[in-house]
Amino acid sequence: MDSVITHEVFNQPEPLVDYDLFATNRALQDALRFNAPDLQLGPLQALGRELGSAGMQAHARLANVHTPELRTHDRFGRRIDEVEFHPSYHALMQTAVGAGLHGTPWAENEAPTPAASPAALPPEGAPAARGGPSPLGRSPHVQRAAGFMLFTELEPSILCPISMTYAVAPALRDNPAIHAEWSPLLQSRAYDPALKVYRDKPGVTMGMGMTEKQGGSDVRANTTQAVRDGSDAWGERYAITGHKWFFSAPMCDAFLVLAQAPAGLSCFFLPRVLPDGTRNAIRIQRLKDKLGNKANASSEVEFHGAAAWLVGEEGRGVPQILEMGTMTRLDCSLGTSGLMRQAVALALNHTRQRSAFGKPLIEQPLMRNVLADLALESEAATALAIRLARSFDRQDDAHERLMARLLTPVAKFWICKRGSHLAQEAMECLGGNGYVEEGGQGVMARIYREMPLNSIWEGAGNIMAIDLLRALRKGDAAAALERELAPARGVHAALDRLVAALPARVEAMATEVEARRLAQDVALAVQAALLVQTAPEAVHAAFAASRLGGDWGYAFGTLGAGVDAGAIIERAMPVA
Ligand SMILES: Cc1cc2nc3c(=O)[nH]c(=O)nc-3n(C[C@H](O)[C@H](O)[C@H](O)COP(=O)(O)OP(=O)(O)OC[C@H]3O[C@@H](n4cnc5c(N)ncnc54)[C@H](O)[C@@H]3O)c2cc1C
Repeated sequence: MDSVITHEVFNQPEPLVDYDLFATNRALQDALRFNAPDLQLGPLQALGRELGSAGMQAHARLANVHTPELRTHDRFGRRIDEVEFHPSYHALMQTAVGAGLHGTPWAENEAPTPAASPAALPPEGAPAARGGPSPLGRSPHVQRAAGFMLFTELEPSILCPISMTYAVAPALRDNPAIHAEWSPLLQSRAYDPALKVYRDKPGVTMGMGMTEKQGGSDVRANTTQAVRDGSDAWGERYAITGHKWFFSAPMCDAFLVLAQAPAGLSCFFLPRVLPDGTRNAIRIQRLKDKLGNKANASSEVEFHGAAAWLVGEEGRGVPQILEMGTMTRLDCSLGTSGLMRQAVALALNHTRQRSAFGKPLIEQPLMRNVLADLALESEAATALAIRLARSFDRQDDAHERLMARLLTPVAKFWICKRGSHLAQEAMECLGGNGYVEEGGQGVMARIYREMPLNSIWEGAGNIMAIDLLRALRKGDAAAALERELAPARGVHAALDRLVAALPARVEAMATEVEARRLAQDVALAVQAALLVQTAPEAVHAAFAASRLGGDWGYAFGTLGAGVDAGAIIERAMPVA
């Protein structure tokens, strides 16, 4: 007999499912209104509904539980070097590519300028013409950034190849022949996972290979060699021999890799399948066993005289890779902001349904302090990440170019640093349930494991802080920051004090030892100034008092007693 009833299950929350990720994210909506008032919201609204659905959540779980598997050989002993993914991985990739989160924004820069009017947009859900004008309006990077954030809430790890494709697409311009053939495929919204020659595919994805065993941050230490091997329609061809220690998404159709050529470190285009249809000499040694990021395959590879084509000039590999790094660093900020938002949404959903000591957790005064504090951090991250994305849409403006250069390391450093702390505290809001995986259903656990990654890859914290120092030497950084922060002057004394002190600190900054502190303070000043312009008073007043005014502790949940926690919590609530 298994019908003995021992207890009734009660006081456990209903999961956060079948809800609209976009409609319930007021911080994101306000950031978009501020940074891109002309944005077409229809596609984001549709995406928000789709990504919050039970079906997509099931795909996210399955893709993380049934992790990628490496097949080095076929059963007859021939090398195949393929990675097999669960169908849910492909479903997620299909959705991300279909939403244009990969190379699509670059179509805007290459196609005839589309009108910004709604009439220029295809009907919602209609596929974009391959290589045609972008349907993303005048703010394609902001539009894509918002979609990327929403997608991260559902599942972050498949966004690795999506982000890399976004980053490499513009860099290919330095090889016009390859760019002409590949960029329409990189911008296409069709996803085709098959390993076959690019000509036979409706769309492609790309990866990046820089990191080697002896050096990741310091790519000049690369030992992989590139030897001239003739020229053809794609320009100068080389044979690449060496390895990459981290080589994510190895099933991408091509990669930009760094290797040592006679004139120094150079950037090469390395396709998986060669133009004649044969496979390139890329040997996947093994897949990394990672803390999180489970749905994504990260591999170690060797190149055995693999064919690759020069992109740009020999010896110019470092500046080229830095250009790509700028885009992936933007994505680290966006991705962490998305993860923060999801963590806060889960914490709010849980505490509003779970009672302890006679009332819902969300009504307990100290829990309100924690939740409000988390919501502030999440909203500030969203505001900064979307602000940064705006600068990539306005590269014809000198101020925006400078902001892209300054805020990229600042945002990546600070948002990613805060992400792990926030995830831990948000997990604690769920008590023991937060720590449980339960066959991949423990979304909070997945978020927690994912969080440190964005801080490490594409330049870890110190590298970002040092990069800020480099950025400060470009143009008049102090004046640009002053201009950026001016609209918020006179609202909070603490913000005014920081803003007044920053130019001298920026001018005086000479050594690395204070670089993290400067990156932190620039981030806080910009976040506070943005919130003054985009958020209700309860939010920006609490942010300025805690983060800038000293009315705060060293853990979340230490806001001052005067903070309007109710207004902050209500604004962040993921359900109506
Ligand atoms: C899951 C995952 C996937 C990845 N996928 C890819 C990929 O697809 N392609 C790719 O090329 N790479 C990839 N990477 C590699 C990643 O970009 C590197 O790990 C990262 O850039 C750091 O390099 P490193 O591991 O060699 O660490 P190191 O360079 O050894 O750095 C170690 C620490 O030292 C610090 N440091 C370095 N220099 C200085 C300095 N001058 N002053 C102070 N501190 C310093 C760093 O900030 C860091 O904290 C991936 C990494 C991970 C974890």
